Amino acid sequence: MSVGRRGAVVTLLLASGCGQVVAPGAPQQLDVHGVTVVLATSAPFSQAPDFPARIESTLAAALAYWGGGWTDLDGSTVVLSDAPHVACGTSSSALGCQEGRSIRLTVQDPSVGQFVCVEQTVLVHEVGHAVTGDPMHLDPRWMELEPVEQALEGRIGYTQEGLVPCVLYVSVWRHLIGVP
Ligand SMILES: [Zn+2]
Repeated sequence: MSVGRRGAVVTLLLASGCGQVVAPGAPQQLDVHGVTVVLATSAPFSQAPDFPARIESTLAAALAYWGGGWTDLDGSTVVLSDAPHVACGTSSSALGCQEGRSIRLTVQDPSVGQFVCVEQTVLVHEVGHAVTGDPMHLDPRWMELEPVEQALEGRIGYTQEGLVPCVLYVSVWRHLIGVP
């Protein structure tokens, strides 16, 4: 089930091919190995020239960690939103949501503010749901995730003022075991 804002998003296909952004102006859209990425955000990292490569490698690292492949995400839509929360099931305060072929996430964090890179978002967590189908977080890997941190650490982040380190917070991706 998808309860996202997709219907409100102008789904003009502004980009085609693997990881290629064509035109400025929100929402932009790009295709990454069969995943449609919709940028309903003006976060500086989403406008950076390296964004297509960054989200591709973040998805790849998450898929590798969870034991999945691009086919697990084929036909999926990933929406990055400026809204501080996304509605998800009965929750109206989620930071991310995976439902069927839809992944929606905010680029805002309640404590650190606007994320400076896509790696900081809950995308890695939501890919876990897409691969494992484990809504109750029973898999012990929900509390690990260090390998993803190691794969993605040391990158650059973007703010309105300029470049900053893309500091990773593994706690953003983690979830208590057995809690929905
Ligand atoms: Zn979860």
